[in-house]
Amino acid sequence: MSNFKRIAIMGGTFDPIHFGHLVAAEAARDIFKLDRVFFVPSGNPPHKKNYPVTDAKHRYLMTNLAVAANPYFEVSSIEIEREGYSYAIDTVTEFYNRYKSQAELFFITGADAILEILTWKNVERLTELCRFIAATRPGTHLDELLKFIKKLPDKIGKKIHIMEVPALAISSTDIRQRVANHRTIKYLLPEAVEQYIVKNGLYQT
Ligand code: NAP
Repeated sequence: MSNFKRIAIMGGTFDPIHFGHLVAAEAARDIFKLDRVFFVPSGNPPHKKNYPVTDAKHRYLMTNLAVAANPYFEVSSIEIEREGYSYAIDTVTEFYNRYKSQAELFFITGADAILEILTWKNVERLTELCRFIAATRPGTHLDELLKFIKKLPDKIGKKIHIMEVPALAISSTDIRQRVANHRTIKYLLPEAVEQYIVKNGLYQT
């Protein structure tokens, strides 16, 4: 068993992963004194039934390339391997069972995703098992987010921390559009991920 006292799950589609995600994870590690951050690319997100999401294999491999240089970061294929839709409750429960009573759990994700948290499966149980770190990007309406969190029942709201991340001005959507429009994506994401995108012809349309 590890000696980890504080662990975070970094949940996202990572389509593709970029420097905004990496800066957010490193900032959370620093602020919340995390021993490990596990990047968990989502497998089959229930809320994206109508959107085309890039094959999980590509998103998983790009995430591995991106985190390779940071000894505190790891990638977990837990959601990719699980059959059916990916629910945060199943992922958090698996981590909880693995590190039970030994480590405190955090779930880092984008503030936009947190605004939908009441629609997540078993949200009350989720907030018993972990604390949430909502990473905001420039342009996020902090007042709105704070108002939203204040209106939540205490046992949910008190488990959500806001973390401002200026580097999240970078977005996966923008990167996908840039590739499709033959524009540069240099310095928005690790070079190895950029090369992977080119080599595999991702995001051409
Ligand atoms: P998303 O709609 O792709 O992302 C929402 C926003 O948050 C986007 O602006 C995104 O920016 C940003 N973002 C996503 N992950 C981030 C991260 N780890 N750090 C910083 N910013 C991040 O949301 P999603 O990726 O599908 O979902 C986020 C997480 O919530 C996933 O782990 C997902 O499984 C979970 N979730 C669970 C449920 C459920 O259990 N029912 C429902 C919804 C979401 P970019 O586009 O630049 O990444």
